[in-house]
Amino acid sequence: MASKKRDRINYLRGILQWTILVLLVYMLVRPLADKSYFADFEANCPFGGMQALMSYLSAGSLACSMTTVQIGLGLALLAGVLLFAKLFCSYICPIGTFTEWLATLGRRLKVHITLKGFVDRDLRILKYALLFFTVYFSVTSSELFCRTFDPYFAVVSGFGTDVVLWYAIPALLLTVVGSFFIRQFWCKYICPLGAITNIAVYALPVAALALIWVILNKLMGDAIHWSWLLGAICLTGFILEATTLRFLIFPPLRIVRNAKICTGCKICDKKCPMAINISSVDKVQDIDCHLCTDCIVKCPEAGALTINRRWPKWLPALLTVVLIALALLISNKYEIPTITERWASSDELNSATVFEMDGLKNIKCFGSSRSFANHMKEVPGVLGIETFVKHHRVKVLYNNSLIDEQGVKKAIFSPVSEFFSLPVPGHTRVSVYTIGIDRCFDPNDQYYLTALLYQQNGILGFQTHFGEPVEASIYFDDKVITPEQINKAIEQREIVLGEGADRIQQSLNFKVNTNQKAIDSLTVSKLLNVFYQETDITFNFFEKYSPGQLGVWEKTFVQASFPEMQDWIPYLISHTSNDDGIVRFSIVFTDAGPLLRLIFVKSMTSAEKISKLVKESDLQVHFPDGKTEKVKNPFRI
Ligand code: SF4
Ligand code: SF4
Repeated sequence: MASKKRDRINYLRGILQWTILVLLVYMLVRPLADKSYFADFEANCPFGGMQALMSYLSAGSLACSMTTVQIGLGLALLAGVLLFAKLFCSYICPIGTFTEWLATLGRRLKVHITLKGFVDRDLRILKYALLFFTVYFSVTSSELFCRTFDPYFAVVSGFGTDVVLWYAIPALLLTVVGSFFIRQFWCKYICPLGAITNIAVYALPVAALALIWVILNKLMGDAIHWSWLLGAICLTGFILEATTLRFLIFPPLRIVRNAKICTGCKICDKKCPMAINISSVDKVQDIDCHLCTDCIVKCPEAGALTINRRWPKWLPALLTVVLIALALLISNKYEIPTITERWASSDELNSATVFEMDGLKNIKCFGSSRSFANHMKEVPGVLGIETFVKHHRVKVLYNNSLIDEQGVKKAIFSPVSEFFSLPVPGHTRVSVYTIGIDRCFDPNDQYYLTALLYQQNGILGFQTHFGEPVEASIYFDDKVITPEQINKAIEQREIVLGEGADRIQQSLNFKVNTNQKAIDSLTVSKLLNVFYQETDITFNFFEKYSPGQLGVWEKTFVQASFPEMQDWIPYLISHTSNDDGIVRFSIVFTDAGPLLRLIFVKSMTSAEKISKLVKESDLQVHFPDGKTEKVKNPFRI
């Protein structure tokens, strides 16, 4: 005889859901205390993984910053549906948890309704349409399109840069309001990941569609674009879901009711988050069931509801944990390349030598991988590359009769050249300190090293050159800072950048290698020549005039040594050319700093007119497309 149960709380499900929420909160608050921590809220998103996989299968590259971990989790989700049940929706999905809580609140306030009939069926097309557009745009752009509107990403990223407010705010409002008033609004009608899970439930017809597409494409010479297959799969998923509202073959684990024990109290119907009518069926076949086991837990009659008559109610929670652990374990071991590019013949590739390098932090997404490939394509002897963003790793295939390993490393290396400032007036000589610096091969590291040196008084400029260790030339004013102080600054273990909300704290690990140490000195004009080129441009028929007809207008022009002003100099050239009497524009470097020198025709203009012209509040600039515009004059000459 069956016994009455006391257990009414689904502890296991609650523990898993709360674990995910606590992890998310931890990721949200940790950056407040640890500025070097970057919270990647998509790192474990199976939906991103599914999009990345589709992108990889169709375009041979991974979308955005997606890694094998996301793909592994996406595949675990599919395997979960095919082998067991829709476990992710029930035990992991943070949006599912949140919208379920909203639904409970709506029910308590008696404003919650369950959509039925054709409204319930027809609205389900929304999630398939969303799935189609999300996958289509993600694959064609190699960016995760769902980021633009995903309410989860919008909230956890604090409406970050990839979020499009016009999409994300209505999506968030719709999710919150809809879930409050309508039973499982998000899961049933909106969630594209829910659409993928249901498509997995209909794996056999979907596999048949894919097979037909492959055969037709073979016969027609790849004439049918993959987007037709995607559209057909989404439409089939919707039609099967709307017409049957049932599982077909998958998933194998189902809730089964023992009519001999069941008393017909209907508590299970009331407690089912998906509003499934359990008390009137022997086996739950409803497509919305995600095996949360709430019905088993809340049923007062032990044994009235079971999983396939024999499995314990904790099995789905255990399977969820095992699947995730396996996915993380396997995907951390094997990494799919973000991009694979080969630009040599198969003969050359077969005899290629492979060079691998880890820790290139600037290899962090599809875009940076693309730039890396474009750069390496220009290097003679390099035949192809692969990038792996999770470990910031690159694999370079090269012809060792054209380039050696050192040459490949040199090609990967991106040198830095940054001018900071002129020495204080009166200091006419500059010292240059050359040293090796360990652990600064990567452009990201060089960025922090540059920022660190910029913060030191007396350092005037900085350059890196390829070497092992990387060779750095530090230009400094020896009356303000010494080489020992520079060494100490480079070896500090942390740098703080920005202020307020933008403040970041970055750990550093540079080591000065003084084996190749050298100290030299140079003049200020030579220092400027290291970082900039002097400017000398003629216009307004300069060659027509003899030296006797020309006058010289000169002014010190310190702003010409400011890195941020370099892009404005062509605007000033264009502006000065508006005076037909000015025929030559030069910036020359002297030991007192840069000098602006304008050559003018004495009979056409004057030094006074020129002084007025360069001080005008707006620069009148002529652009190559023939347009003329006024821009604010940023110079103080
Ligand atoms: S299965 Fe359990 S909760 Fe549902 S009607 Fe029967 S006894 Fe009640
Ligand atoms: S039928 Fe049971 S297991 Fe399925 S969703 Fe409803 S409560 Fe959860």
